[in-house]
Amino acid sequence: MPELPEVETLCRQLRPVIVGAEITQTRVIDPKLGVIEGLQGREIRGVTRYGKTLEMELERGLSLLFHFRMTGRLLWQDGNGPLPHTRLVISFSHGRISLIDPRRFATVTLHEKRNCLSLGSDPLADFNPSHLWAIAQQSALPVKSFLMDQRRIAGIGNIYACEILHKAQVDPWRRADSLSYKEWEGIGEAAGKILTRAIACRGASVSDWRDLFGKEGEHQNYLLVYNREGAECYRCGGRIERRKLNGRGTYYCPTCQNGEGG
Ligand SMILES: [Zn+2]
Repeated sequence: MPELPEVETLCRQLRPVIVGAEITQTRVIDPKLGVIEGLQGREIRGVTRYGKTLEMELERGLSLLFHFRMTGRLLWQDGNGPLPHTRLVISFSHGRISLIDPRRFATVTLHEKRNCLSLGSDPLADFNPSHLWAIAQQSALPVKSFLMDQRRIAGIGNIYACEILHKAQVDPWRRADSLSYKEWEGIGEAAGKILTRAIACRGASVSDWRDLFGKEGEHQNYLLVYNREGAECYRCGGRIERRKLNGRGTYYCPTCQNGEGG
């Protein structure tokens, strides 16, 4: 679940807490994570997000990559014992970071120097309509799957794809290459607004998402279609529906998201 806004929230909260601090101990609790060693005594140089991936850059050219998948999140603690579902603990002299992950799909990998991730454009950095329109010309995917394809666009998952398409009034099943330039303009604009607000809200706690300090995000209060099956569309009064697209529950309003473009 953690998508761009949730991972960006972790990055922003982690930087003032751990950049410049030295790792004193690493403890892998869930052996499914594999061996993670050689971190002790290294200082954290930076924290960066690539799509939905979080990178901790360490001194002497090492980099630790977190992929949170379904339920992974990081928690900062300076007291108390480990919480249930803790899979990894990274300690500092002033506190520790725990990877909490009930479903256990998250991965943590250590790389020599920055990993070359083959990821697409970042919606916060280069989401201009000409770029979107151009990369969509080679894709017959439904536009929602296109937005969620991390090799093309990095950071958008199921929740934000539903919200962006509703705001832009685009049918999630339309082929990506059938959208007009104007529609990509609308999608780019909607993505910018929604993702920026979601970051300001520290993400959406629709399931078990919590920020670095264990607090719920607030963006779930602003969702216009996600999780609203059967409810009234705030824009047109139509009925929100939920249908599967590529195995993912897709929320949309058939009344105001049915344009053929132009
Ligand atoms: Zn509607």
